[in-house]
Amino acid sequence: MKVPEYFEKAEGRTLVSFEILPPLKGGDIQSIFDTLDPLMEFKPPFIDVTYHREDFIYKKQSSGFFEKVAVRKRPGTVGICASIIHRYGVDAVPHLICGGFTREETENALIDLNFLNINNVLALRGDARQFDSKFVPEEGGNKYAIDLIRQIKDMNEGKYLHGEEGAKTNFCIGIAGYPEKHFEAPNANLDLKFTKAKIDAGAEYIVTQMFFDNQKYFDYVERCRAAGITVPIIPGLKPITKQYQLTSIPRLFHIDMPDDLVNGISKAKNAEERKEVGIEWLVAQSKELKEKGVPCLHYYTMGDADVVHKIVSQVL
Ligand code: FAD
Repeated sequence: MKVPEYFEKAEGRTLVSFEILPPLKGGDIQSIFDTLDPLMEFKPPFIDVTYHREDFIYKKQSSGFFEKVAVRKRPGTVGICASIIHRYGVDAVPHLICGGFTREETENALIDLNFLNINNVLALRGDARQFDSKFVPEEGGNKYAIDLIRQIKDMNEGKYLHGEEGAKTNFCIGIAGYPEKHFEAPNANLDLKFTKAKIDAGAEYIVTQMFFDNQKYFDYVERCRAAGITVPIIPGLKPITKQYQLTSIPRLFHIDMPDDLVNGISKAKNAEERKEVGIEWLVAQSKELKEKGVPCLHYYTMGDADVVHKIVSQVL
């Protein structure tokens, strides 16, 4: 089923969904199931699996020189999606990025997904590689998420690359949205304009970047609606459980941390107390969002599945 259809079917009830990362360098699928098994009691209609572009690292050789090698840290998105569908019978939503893919490779990846009966994708541009100062698309690859959306929409109409015709796919496309603005956009209005363009190109729902102040989400939804964006806007939520996240999260995701959350985490006496502060915060966030009737609460589990379980138990 397509992601927005679950919201229609829920008739105003708030659903929950989860997002997982493939483990570092593969591993046993059981570790994924161990993460997801307890969360399945909340009946998520879909589970997202992130995609990670290859990055360059410098490896010291015996000669003393450094060799630049390309390493993909978290491979396995498609295989994990297929295993999730097989084990739980729910939809799996792979993230698909522009970075690292030629348009041919994107087309082939979509053909694979179609064969696996995976027909929801989150279409993203991807971030810059570690040693690149800005995002560099693959030669012959899509430059922005909107280019990827157009390619997927073409395939939905049976239009393949180089004027070829093929089987019509049936992908439903989600996109990323940024309540606190994408960090590269010159201002929030332009960012919104590009988001609207992605919807006009055929995206059917938005998942937001994490935020810790619900007002930022409410304001964002209001601005989207005023700009004519009518699709579901799913809040992305992440628990804070560690001191270092107070600086790493703003650095990596370009978002603000409210004073009360920073103070609560900083004043906690130990790891257990910090976790409790993070849980309490996200429970309060989730409850308010649910009260306001959001279609779905989307939790970034990122190694904190047990914490997410505790939170959702108090919210649903
Ligand atoms: P785009 O929509 O292409 O926008 C990128 C920037 O360009 C923005 O500043 C935008 O305002 C601007 N822009 C857009 N269109 C145009 C245009 N036509 N002309 C000029 N400027 C334009 N990254 C991963 O690598 N893997 C993942 O699995 C992943 N999952 C994510 C899930 C969610 C819910 C979110 C919020 C982010 C995720 N990311 C992931 C991170 C994402 O790839 C980055 O935030 C990336 O920097 C931007 O992606 P985008 O799809 O929003 O890009």
